Amino acid sequence: MQAPESFFQATSSKTSPQQSSEHVVFCDFDGPIVDVSERYYRAYRKGLLAIADICWQQHSVALTMKPLPKSLFWQQKQSRVADIELALCSGIPAKWFELYMQQIEALVNHDSLLRWDNVQPSAEAALSYLKQANMRLVLVTLRHSRQVNVFLRAKGLAHLVDAVYGASTVEAAHRNRVELKRELLMTAVVEQQAQGYCTSQSWMVGDTEADVLAAKEIGLCSVALSCGVRSEAYLRSLKPTKLCSELFTAAQAVVEKTALQAA
Ligand SMILES: [Mg+2]
Repeated sequence: MQAPESFFQATSSKTSPQQSSEHVVFCDFDGPIVDVSERYYRAYRKGLLAIADICWQQHSVALTMKPLPKSLFWQQKQSRVADIELALCSGIPAKWFELYMQQIEALVNHDSLLRWDNVQPSAEAALSYLKQANMRLVLVTLRHSRQVNVFLRAKGLAHLVDAVYGASTVEAAHRNRVELKRELLMTAVVEQQAQGYCTSQSWMVGDTEADVLAAKEIGLCSVALSCGVRSEAYLRSLKPTKLCSELFTAAQAVVEKTALQAA
């Protein structure tokens, strides 16, 4: 399968060897490494305010918004409650739902909200652990490559990541489409193989159906992480190779399995 060249952008921090004993671990960015919950919640609150403002300014209609507390909002997102249900129970009338979603899509990747992204508690330790175990860490993400590299440098994590395969549009991450993730993962596997790295026993680590299903379709083992935007119960229903609560436990499992397979 060939991914459209214009859609993806790859960046690498290393020169390519002809042959290497390094095993590649493919890993998603949002969820495993980044806690996006605060950004998503702030986009939701700003989206409600924007719709209330538009309704009042343009239609003289006063809407009473009923925003959910963050814990409930995130629980609903993790359980895949539909956006329209979230909007309706927050006070958005159905006829304004489309406009509300346009606001959310514009807000959620806006530079003013990206600063609310945080490093997941175990992420740095996990990336260091993979590096010490001589694993090559390749990020495969629907976030824009520029956003990923800016974040990694700002948080002092760039030296722990060997390559980044990201989307070339900022909207791709929020839409989280399985087929885009599969194409991007396939591109990453093919290119890493061509560069001489070992991908025959590679794992894909991620927090959504896009990661698990893309890995399955390409024939990689998958680790689903419940610290991201999907619940443990939902991820279990996808039948990943392994289910973990956060990245460090996943890194330990991947290193252990890779060592066993290589023995
Ligand atoms: Mg993710």
